[in-house]
Amino acid sequence: MSKKNQSKADAYSFFSCIEKNFDKAARYLSIKKGLLEQIKSCNAVYRMHFPVKIGKEIQVIEAYRVQHSHHKLPCKGGIRYSIKVNQDEVMTLAALMTYKCAIVDVPFGGAKGGIKIDPQIVSAENIEKITRRYTSELIKKNFIGPGIDVPAPDYGTGEREMSWIFDTFLSLSPGEVDALACVTGKPVSQGGVRGRKEATGLGVFYGIRELCKMKEEMLSVGLDVGLNGKKVIIQGLGNVGYHAATFFHEAGAIIVALAEREGAIYNKKGLNVSNVILHLKKTGSILNFPESKNIEDTEKALELECDILIPAALENVIHKHNANRIKAKIIGEAANGPVTPEADDILGKKGVLIVPDIYLNAGGVTVSYFEWLKNLSHVRYGRMEKRFSENMNTELLQVIETSCRKKIPIEEKKMILRGPREIDLVRSGLEDTMINGFHKIRDLKKSLKIENLRTAAFVLAINKIIDSYEKLGIFP
Ligand code: GLU
Repeated sequence: MSKKNQSKADAYSFFSCIEKNFDKAARYLSIKKGLLEQIKSCNAVYRMHFPVKIGKEIQVIEAYRVQHSHHKLPCKGGIRYSIKVNQDEVMTLAALMTYKCAIVDVPFGGAKGGIKIDPQIVSAENIEKITRRYTSELIKKNFIGPGIDVPAPDYGTGEREMSWIFDTFLSLSPGEVDALACVTGKPVSQGGVRGRKEATGLGVFYGIRELCKMKEEMLSVGLDVGLNGKKVIIQGLGNVGYHAATFFHEAGAIIVALAEREGAIYNKKGLNVSNVILHLKKTGSILNFPESKNIEDTEKALELECDILIPAALENVIHKHNANRIKAKIIGEAANGPVTPEADDILGKKGVLIVPDIYLNAGGVTVSYFEWLKNLSHVRYGRMEKRFSENMNTELLQVIETSCRKKIPIEEKKMILRGPREIDLVRSGLEDTMINGFHKIRDLKKSLKIENLRTAAFVLAINKIIDSYEKLGIFP
C-alpha cells in the first residue's frame, strides 16, 4: 500500500470496523447487550518485548498474542511477521478468527499473533532466533499448547517458522505426547497434513465457485452461471493469492491481472499463472512479464474491468476513496478485512456481491483443524481405510463384471479401485466445509432478509457462539 493510502486506512481503528459489522448483525438477533459485549471483546491480550542479539547489537522485539475468545478451546490463529504489526491489528485478526471458526464449524476460539519485524530484511538465522524466543515467551505465560492456543502461518510466515515453533515447544515440554498439535501448518515431514499449504486459496476457489453456480445471484450482477470465462483479478501472489490464482486458472477463468507490491501486470486475454510465477522466480518481480502490460501503481489494478476481484494481501485496500471506481461485480475477500465498512456500503449500493473474509478464507483454519486432529490421533488420514476400500472396490467390480459379462477397461478400473489418500480426504473435507458454509450463510440471508452476505455470515457466527455459551451453561 502506498504511504498516502496507508494513512487513509490508518485513520480509523481496524477493530472498530469489525465491531461495526458485528453490530449490524446483532440487530437481527435478540441477544442481551452484555452477552454481545462479551462476544465482541478480546479475552486476553499479551504484548511482549524481548531482546534478541542481532550481529553485535541487542534489538528489542515487539510482539503479540491475542486470544479473542475462550468459548471453545484451544484458541486458534496464525502468526504474522510484518513491520506494520500493532495491537489493534492483531486484536482484529483474532476476532475475525473467532467468527471464521464458528461459521465453518471448527471448534476453536479465535486468536492471532504478530511480531513487528520485516521478514524480507531480517536474515533467516535471526528470524529463527526471534521465532524461538517468541515461542518460549508464549510457553512462559501458558499461551501455547495443544489444548490452550495453537498458532499457524499467516502473512510473512510459513512451514519453516511453524517447525521452529514446534521444535522449541517440544524441547521445553519433554514427554508431551501431543506436542505435535501445538502448532499447525507444519511441513508434512514434521507432522503437517497434506493439502494445508494450498488450503486457503483452494477454499477461496470453492467458495466463489459455489456462488457462481447460483442463478439468482449471477442474474443480479448480470453474469452467466459458472466460472468458465469469467475475468478475474488477484491482488497478492503470496501463499493464498498464488494458489487461488492457480485454481481459478485451471477451472477456465481468465486471470486478466495480477498485482504485487512492486506493481501489477495486465492482459485482457489472460495471464498464464504458472509462467508468471516462473518469471517472478527468475527476475524477482512480476513486472515485464511477456505479453502483458505493466501497471506501475499497483492499487490501480483493483479498478480494472473484471468480473471477480480477489484481494488476497492485506486489510483496508478497498476504502471509501477507491470503492466507487471498482468495476468488479463480485469481490472475494481472500485477505482478512480488505474492504472497509465505508467501502462496503458504497459497493453494496452499486450492487457488488461481496463474499466476506470470515467465510471465504476459512479454508486455512479448516485444514489446520484436520492437521490438529491428525496430530492428536497420531495416525495419517487414510491409513486405516485405504487398503480396505481398495479391496471392497475390487470385489464390487468383479461382481459387476461377472453379472454383466463385460470387462471394465483397465484405466476406468484404476480410477474406481483407488482407496482414499490423505490429500483426497483433506480436499473433500475442505470442499464440503466450504459448500456447506456458503449455503448456511445464503439460507440465513434469505430467511431473515439480511442485506448482504457479510451481515448474514456475522449472524450465523454469533448464533453459533451463543449456542456454545448456552451449552457451557455460562449464561443461564
Ligand atoms: N492465518 C490463517 C487465517 O487467518 C490460518 C489460521 C489457522 O490455520 O489457524 O485464517
